[in-house]
Amino acid sequence: MNEPKPVDLVIDARYIVPIEPAGTLVDHALVVDAGRIVALAPSATIDERFAPRARVDLGSHVLIPGLVNAHTHAAMTLMRGIADDLPLKTWLEAHVWPCESRHVSPEFVNDGTLHAAAEMLKGGITCANDMYFYPDAAARAYEAAGLRALIGMPVLDFPTPYASDADDYLAKGFAARDAFKHSPRLAFALAPHAPYTVGDETWHKIVMYARQLDLPIHTHVAETQVEVDDARAASGESPLLRLDRLGATGPSFIGVHAVHLDTADIETLATQRCSVVHCPVSNMKLASGIAPIAALLKRGVNVALGTDGAASNNRLDLFSEMRIASLLAKVAAQDAAALPAAFALRMATLDGAIALGFEREIGSLAIGKQADVVAVEMSSLDLLPMYDPVSHLVHVAAREDVTDVWIAGERVVEARRLATIDEAAVVAHARAWQQRLQ
Ligand SMILES: [Zn+2]
Repeated sequence: MNEPKPVDLVIDARYIVPIEPAGTLVDHALVVDAGRIVALAPSATIDERFAPRARVDLGSHVLIPGLVNAHTHAAMTLMRGIADDLPLKTWLEAHVWPCESRHVSPEFVNDGTLHAAAEMLKGGITCANDMYFYPDAAARAYEAAGLRALIGMPVLDFPTPYASDADDYLAKGFAARDAFKHSPRLAFALAPHAPYTVGDETWHKIVMYARQLDLPIHTHVAETQVEVDDARAASGESPLLRLDRLGATGPSFIGVHAVHLDTADIETLATQRCSVVHCPVSNMKLASGIAPIAALLKRGVNVALGTDGAASNNRLDLFSEMRIASLLAKVAAQDAAALPAAFALRMATLDGAIALGFEREIGSLAIGKQADVVAVEMSSLDLLPMYDPVSHLVHVAAREDVTDVWIAGERVVEARRLATIDEAAVVAHARAWQQRLQ
């Protein structure tokens, strides 16, 4: 008989929901070595196969892959709740953009992103797809937090305190990408804000860079009916078909919101193998509409979940997004079978990883993948009884039930406490920024 193999970590759990394959394992352990998952096996068999350097017993928990927040503007956490009860256009033009032009700086982005990272980690989010100014300052915060991120290099056709024109945005984005090219948990995407804020000439440049450098394109698209109506009046095309004509669509295209789509738009997303990021709470709060998720899924479009920024949500909470996505899909389709819990959980994990191009590394608890793992405690009164852990993860559990989080095998949340971020400092910075912004 072989000697037990030394490994870094064994996590025993009451339940494991690996996503791949579908289903739930009972009384199993997750075995981690050198940051990666090396086995999932019944806890009773671990001693004969493995000699762990650390072992964690989570006897009333469910282990799931780290949640992927497939669209956010992390630094906007400092603007949480700054303007409620407004439609997108007024919210942006009368409140968000003026506030940003006065206050946004590398310091603002670093503090806001670190705050968002703290909130996301405590809520079981281990990977974020971010889009904001000063991506170098955001990257610094993500690196310090240990959170995985796809960082958008923002592009607009108008000047902001961050950059003067499209070429300046691109140059600054590429400089940030160069500065963090050796950071193992960070990758970069081109992030043109939206079809209506970026003209054809700039889109041509973005498409050229995306192809040359093999970079994803992360953009808002078809968020409101006004956007679609204005686009049709200007060019006769829907925003999505315009981006398709400009060559922006493809498997690395991440289209956020995608609320107002017609049949041709959905067909294009499907044939180009694009990903859509559904942000149900943001879409509801800004009254943008209900994205046609059932129709997209029926055509095989990959749909991930995002919180959007805390200024339009006002939480970075994928547990609430999962539940609301499921409920909204049911009421929109008038079909109680629409978007079952297992599918909502998959959207928040594996399908998010697919959207970001990270599916070979994260998104499921599969052997060989990075050990990005979240433990959800299921012992409190409001979670019992529990007949189906997957149903509970979507319809009952809250982010406060997350107790422990590992990223690449590193324990970044332990017993609800952040290991990589000074929580008191984050709170103090938030109070200081509130004083300056109000
Ligand atoms: Zn957004």
